[in-house]
Amino acid sequence: MHFSRLRLTGFKSFVDPTDLVIAEGLTGIVGPNGCGKSNLLEAMRWVMGENRPSTMRGAGMEDVIFAGAASRPARHFAEVTLHIDNSRRLAPAGFNDSDTLEVVRRITRDAGSAYKVNAREVRARDVQMLFADASTGAHSPALVSQGQISELIRARPKARRRLLEEAAGISGLYQRRHEAELKLNAAEANLARTDDLIDQLA
Ligand code: ATP
Repeated sequence: MHFSRLRLTGFKSFVDPTDLVIAEGLTGIVGPNGCGKSNLLEAMRWVMGENRPSTMRGAGMEDVIFAGAASRPARHFAEVTLHIDNSRRLAPAGFNDSDTLEVVRRITRDAGSAYKVNAREVRARDVQMLFADASTGAHSPALVSQGQISELIRARPKARRRLLEEAAGISGLYQRRHEAELKLNAAEANLARTDDLIDQLA
């Protein structure tokens, strides 16, 4: 899957609709301090399902909505769209029936986030799994922020292992294992309850 375009509207400093065309290969974002380089990277993480406001450098998720400036009022919503070229049909099953994927996340004040893939409403988990199964996502090592290289050099082995797991595309399996464990625990509790009832009847 190749990310071909990122569109931001009302996201942080990008108040007006802004398109970033992403060419194949490595993309570097350069510019003066405060021009919005990190905001662009955060928009990419956000549309892939990031749910921790601290990763977005905010106290709450609504902090990603344009907060207003001297000459412009604050916005009521923020929206980020990621276009993915899927002509080589590398998208995971369930999302692999078209040449392009358009993933949209929109947050509205007091109403939270909503996600769509090719105009169809989906859950946050569906979007997170879509990217995890494609070996990418909000925590992908392919998104390199300022200072991250020196952090990686200083990182402990456990943190480095997580990066390798993200790159190998197996991080989605942790979420699935966690969900399977929850179901197993619920089934065990049901079984214990059934045993109690059988004992009472005997
Ligand atoms: P540096 O090189 O200094 O790290 P940068 O190019 O990465 O800077 P960002 O940190 O992406 O810049 O952008 C910072 C700008 O975004 C600041 O001017 C800040 O006021 C603005 N900004 C952040 N959140 C919002 C928001 N919710 N509404 C409006 N502007 C915002």
